[in-house]
Amino acid sequence: MPIPVLRRLPIRLRLALWYVLCLLLAIAAIGGFLLTTLENDLQWEVDEALRLRAAHIERELAGAMEGQRDLPGAAGQLLEPAPWEELAAPGIYVQILSEEAAVLASSANLAGGQLPATAEMVVGALAGRESYASVPVGQERVRLLARPVVAGERVVGVALVGESLHPLRVTLRRTQQLLIVAAGIVAAAALAGGWWLTARTLGPISALTRVARRIAATGEFVQRVAPPPAQDELGELAATFNDMLARLERTFRGQREFLADASHELRGPLMVIRGNLDLLKLDLPEAERQACAREATEEVERMARLVADLLFLAEVDAQAMVEHRPVAVDAVVREVWQRAKARDAGSHEVVLAENDPATVRGDRDRLGQMLWNLVENALRYTPAGGKVAIALRNHGQIAELTVADTGIGIAPEHRPRIFERFYRGDPARPRGEGSTGLGLAIVKQVAEAHGGQVRVRSEPGEGSVFTVALPAEQAPGG
Ligand code: ADP
Repeated sequence: MPIPVLRRLPIRLRLALWYVLCLLLAIAAIGGFLLTTLENDLQWEVDEALRLRAAHIERELAGAMEGQRDLPGAAGQLLEPAPWEELAAPGIYVQILSEEAAVLASSANLAGGQLPATAEMVVGALAGRESYASVPVGQERVRLLARPVVAGERVVGVALVGESLHPLRVTLRRTQQLLIVAAGIVAAAALAGGWWLTARTLGPISALTRVARRIAATGEFVQRVAPPPAQDELGELAATFNDMLARLERTFRGQREFLADASHELRGPLMVIRGNLDLLKLDLPEAERQACAREATEEVERMARLVADLLFLAEVDAQAMVEHRPVAVDAVVREVWQRAKARDAGSHEVVLAENDPATVRGDRDRLGQMLWNLVENALRYTPAGGKVAIALRNHGQIAELTVADTGIGIAPEHRPRIFERFYRGDPARPRGEGSTGLGLAIVKQVAEAHGGQVRVRSEPGEGSVFTVALPAEQAPGG
C-alpha cells in the first residue's frame, strides 16, 4: 500500500508529492477531455469533407448518366484513367458499387483492392441511407462513407468514399506528446515549488522542535524560539510556545526558590532545637534547663505551624481539595471575630463593623483560615491599644470581606510582594509568635481558588486595609 509508505516520509516530501499527484491528476483529466474533444472535432471535419465529396461524386455520376451512359460507364469515366485531382489525392479512396454490390470502378490507390465496407453499410446505402464507419485499409485506418447513387428516382448503386485517418492520428499523437511534456515540466516545477514552500512553512516548526529538544536535554527553560517574520498561524504557535516557556520558567524558578525558602525556614527552628538539646546534656541549673526546654518546645510548635501552612498551601494548590458547597460567610466572620477577641484578650479594640448575610460557594474551613490569617496579621502588626475592624458587605454578585487595622502599615516597596510565599516585610519589624511568612500567600491562594481576589491599601504608620472580593451566590429567597 502506498499510503503507509507515504506516512513514513518527511512531511516536506509528502506535501510536495501530494502537490505533484494532484497536479498530474488534474492535467490527466483536462488532457483527456481536450484529446477527446479534439478527436471528435477532427472526425466531424473528416465526415463533413467525405459527405461533400460523396455528394460531388453523385452529382457527377448523375450528370454522366443523363448523357446516356450507364452507371459502369459513368463510374469508369469518373475514376479512370485520370480522375479529378481531388479524387487522386493519396489518402482519398473512392469505389463505385453496382446495385448487386459488384465493384464497378475504384480509385487508383486501391490497386484493384476493395474498400472493406460492411454488408450493413452497402445494404443501407442501397436502401437510400448514408452511413459512416472507421475501417482498416492496409496499414492505416480509413473513415468510410457509403452513400446511395440515385438516378431519376431510383438507387442504382453505392458510392464508397474513404479518407485516411492518418493525419488525424498524427495531430492527436502530437497533442498528446505536448501534453505529456507540459505535465512533466509542471510536475517538476510543482515538486520544486512544493519542496521550497513547505521548507519555508515548516521552518519555524523545525526551530520549535530544536528548542524543545534542547530544553529536554538541558532542563533549562531560558531558551526561546525566534518568532517567524509572518504573523500567521505559525507565528502564533511560536509566540504561544514562548509564552508557555516563560510560564514554565517562572513556575520552575518559583518552585526552586520555594524549596530553598522552605528548607531555610525549617532549618532555623531545627538548629535552635539541636542547640538547646545539646545544652540540656550539660549540667545546668534547673531554671536554665526549663528555659532551654521551653524554647525548644516553642520552636517545635513553630515548625509544626510552618509544616501545617505548607501542607495547607499544597492542598489549595491541588484545586480538587477545595470543596464547593454554599458557605454562609457571615457565620464564618462572626466566629473569627469572636475567636480574635478571645485570643487578643483586650489588648486591641476588635470590632465587627458590618456583617451582611452572604453565601459563597466553596470550602468553609479554608475561608475561615483565610480570614483568620488577615485578622491575625492585623493584631500582630497593630500595637496594643489599636483598632482592628472586620466587615462583610454583600454587593449582590460580590461578597466583600475587609480587615482594617490602625497598625504600623506597609511601606510601598514591600506592598507588591507581601503575597509571595515566605516574603516578610521589613526584617526589623516585630515578627511575633506564629509568623511563618506564608499567611498572605494562603490568603491569596484561597481567594483565587474561590474565584476571588485580594488587594491591600496601606500607609506606613497609619494602618492597612485588606479586602477580599469573592463571587457571591444569591441567598435563597433573596
Ligand atoms: P507573616 O507570617 O510574616 O505575617 P504574611 O504573609 O502574613 O507573613 O505577611 C507578609 C508580610 O506582610 C509580613 O511580614 C508583614 O511585613 C506584612 N503585613 C501583613 N499584614 C500586615 C498588616 N496588617 N500590617 C502591616 N504589615 C502587614
